[in-house]
Amino acid sequence: MPYPPDLAPSYDYLLVGGGAAGLSLAYYLAQEPRLAHKRVLLIEPEPKDQNDRTWSYWADEPSPFDELAAGEWHNIAFRSPGFTRVLNLGKYRYRTVRGLDFYQFVHGALAARPAQFTVVRGRVTSLENTGVGVRARTEAGQELTAHFAFDSRPPAIAPNPTKYRYLLQHFLGWEIETTRDVFDPTVVEFMDFRGEQQHEARFMYMLPFGPRRALVEYTLFSAKMLPKSEYEAQLLDYLQNTLKLSPADYRITATEVGAIPMTDHPLPTGVGAHIINLGTRAGRAKPSTGYAFRRIQAQSVRLVAALAATGLPPRDPTGDRWQFRLFDTLLLDIMQRQGETTRDIFRQLFERNPVERIFRFLDEKTSWADNLRVMNSVAPGPFMRSIGYVLRGRPGQRKA
Ligand SMILES: Cc1cc2nc3c(=O)[nH]c(=O)nc-3n(C[C@H](O)[C@H](O)[C@H](O)COP(=O)(O)OP(=O)(O)OC[C@H]3O[C@@H](n4cnc5c(N)ncnc54)[C@H](O)[C@@H]3O)c2cc1C
Repeated sequence: MPYPPDLAPSYDYLLVGGGAAGLSLAYYLAQEPRLAHKRVLLIEPEPKDQNDRTWSYWADEPSPFDELAAGEWHNIAFRSPGFTRVLNLGKYRYRTVRGLDFYQFVHGALAARPAQFTVVRGRVTSLENTGVGVRARTEAGQELTAHFAFDSRPPAIAPNPTKYRYLLQHFLGWEIETTRDVFDPTVVEFMDFRGEQQHEARFMYMLPFGPRRALVEYTLFSAKMLPKSEYEAQLLDYLQNTLKLSPADYRITATEVGAIPMTDHPLPTGVGAHIINLGTRAGRAKPSTGYAFRRIQAQSVRLVAALAATGLPPRDPTGDRWQFRLFDTLLLDIMQRQGETTRDIFRQLFERNPVERIFRFLDEKTSWADNLRVMNSVAPGPFMRSIGYVLRGRPGQRKA
């Protein structure tokens, strides 16, 4: 439909936010020849010149960002008291991409297409559907218009504990260099639950980049963040008592902190006909694990395929399936109600399933038969109680 001149959008696509989701979508748009004539504006307030996070993911098929990986592994270890298993990933690989490498790589790809992409520094303060497109206003007072906006600003979730579950995956990580060989660079410490749980889910996570370099993170799935000193005390304890390192044996070269929402609170995939949500804002951080990077790629692929084929975003921008949302809700309910059970559930999963099935399940690609196998591998009691809470429409709460 032609637009009257005064309403003509200035851009075809407005990408609000240039983090993982905004830049992923931009990258996939840049790769699609059928969309090469589209004019895209990306607006982001930060310079994105710091390594503010690392993204790890597992995958059994190639993705365009694999070549950026700072580490790639064929094995992961799972540990809990009395149980250790080192698992070969089969056709899967576990990879880590540094945020800064990703930002630079995508910005390079966009800069190579100046007629298609405009990247500006700015903060969007309002975004609205206009009937024929979207109108955005920025902090600096500019007005921008486009046919479609893709919004990846962090969501403002006001937790409603009477209806929804809300936890955080929060962590502090230290990248350390040691004076002697300490790490097995072939095995990621995926979850080491051997420490005190304190009625929550608490584990160590470690990426060994070489025999003398690793990222070690103390990670929790729980309602509240800890004072910084508590994460530090746990990291020090792990370095000293598990890795047998004295302070003279290592130095900290970088830190990583984060808090990722883990919630079944509704995170809409869009607003009206022309605003499509992306990334964390669209629920791409998987509620039961906090992993988001691959889900963000999958959403970008889905959006670009539909835009190229029809000119419109897909009616269902994520393709989520209800049964996996239910599994996430049940696991969140148990974590919230009885957090210390989490390590038993993960232990049962890793003890009784091939790792490829677990990854496929967490990727929401399993068949009904495999879903049943996974559910049958864990003790049913906590899940039955949480099904009761789900049926009554209210989250389970921790008994004092
Ligand atoms: C420290 C950390 C480590 C993580 N590690 C992993 C991992 O290993 N694996 C994994 O799968 N997931 C991980 N995640 C979860 C998830 O992948 C990331 O949070 C990911 O960055 C989410 O992408 P996003 O685009 O939704 O958000 P972001 O990457 O945070 O991007 C949002 C962007 O919006 C911008 N913005 C904010 N306000 C405005 C505004 N008003 N106007 C315009 N732009 C705005 C921000 O500056 C930011 O650049 C991690 C998260 C964190 C915080």
